[in-house]
Amino acid sequence: MLKKIILTIAVIAMAAACFAEKNVILVVSDGTGINAINMYEQFSGKKTVMRSFPTKIFCTTYCYGLDFDSSKAWKDASAQIPDIEGYLRNCTDSAASATAINSGRKTYNGHVNLFSGLEHYDTVALAAKRAGYRVADVTSVSWADATPAGVSAHSIARGRWNPISHELLSNGINDVLGGGGNPWYHTNGTKKEEASYNVISSSDWDDVSKGATPYKLIEDREDFLALAADKNAKGKFLFSPKCSGDMPIADHVPTTAEMAVATLNILKNNNGKDGKGFFFMLEEGRPDHANHANNGENNVAFINALDDAVRAMVEWVNKNSNWNDTMIIVTADHETGGIRNTDGTYFITSNGAGNMPNYEYTTGGHTNCPVPFFVKGGTPGLYNRYIRGKDPVWGKYIDNTDISKGIARFMDIRLIK
Ligand SMILES: [Zn+2]
Repeated sequence: MLKKIILTIAVIAMAAACFAEKNVILVVSDGTGINAINMYEQFSGKKTVMRSFPTKIFCTTYCYGLDFDSSKAWKDASAQIPDIEGYLRNCTDSAASATAINSGRKTYNGHVNLFSGLEHYDTVALAAKRAGYRVADVTSVSWADATPAGVSAHSIARGRWNPISHELLSNGINDVLGGGGNPWYHTNGTKKEEASYNVISSSDWDDVSKGATPYKLIEDREDFLALAADKNAKGKFLFSPKCSGDMPIADHVPTTAEMAVATLNILKNNNGKDGKGFFFMLEEGRPDHANHANNGENNVAFINALDDAVRAMVEWVNKNSNWNDTMIIVTADHETGGIRNTDGTYFITSNGAGNMPNYEYTTGGHTNCPVPFFVKGGTPGLYNRYIRGKDPVWGKYIDNTDISKGIARFMDIRLIK
């Protein structure tokens, strides 16, 4: 009798282990240091959703050949005066950072999942696909740009967009793929007289348009809204809203949140009842461009878009999954703009809701400032084991090469070294 009970319990436990799906949503907000988030929160008078996540630490972002050293990062750590024009100026780009995040390995700036053009890196998405997971790769900027490229493409030069988009389209990894960069539309939504094939080549575009690939092309905002509302949405999709590069905040294109929820519905249904789950990389790419341009107002608008997307995905998980099976990470690939307080200290300060805070940009480029790393769901305390140090101002930090390690551990997948 006892044997029978033990056997029954064992069978139930095994069945539960087999059917528990694992989902990872990795949100990369490009060019977003903690002050970019503070700027939105202080202006709006609202806390972002990610502030309520249980894990709130930092993440270092340096590329191959550089480092992060707290003793060099601060001119005066107790007064919180960063060496933002000195040591912190040597930094990663989005290609090396996307490589580190997705593959767990450092490379030179400009490289996507390659080292010196020779060694191809495996990534979380590739390993997840091999293990039977569904994968999606969606962004609010051009979908061949470095951050979405880093999910499953390889390139010696991040600017080679046509070969990168070709790899993303043809490597068989993605159920949902896309973002800005429709060859036929201006950013204001008007049709071009002649197409510009910056992101996708004319032959690939023709193949998608005539249905010669597995992907259904989605261009109209109404179709994005329908997918976001459709609990039964299923299939493979290329998202190509009607804009030439960065998606504007405008009625003719979907919001980042709408694309995110549409993607989650599709992944869930493609996954099916007995599926393993999914890995979804969503990039909010526009804060980087706002901060390169030292445009605080635009940064606020795009962090608002990020926050809306994160909130929509948290609500989706509450309704359609649970926080044991689904983990959401919100982080950045690097800081952009060297944002600091006007008094030279690091953290910016509020002038009350409705007013821009006390901030100034110190560069039109990136910095080596660690970026925020927020996690909700999955294995509690998953990233504690990867903490590498405690900066006197930023606090505990992991490195961006640790992100994929935690994801691989949670999803029980192996990256090939
Ligand atoms: Zn940038």
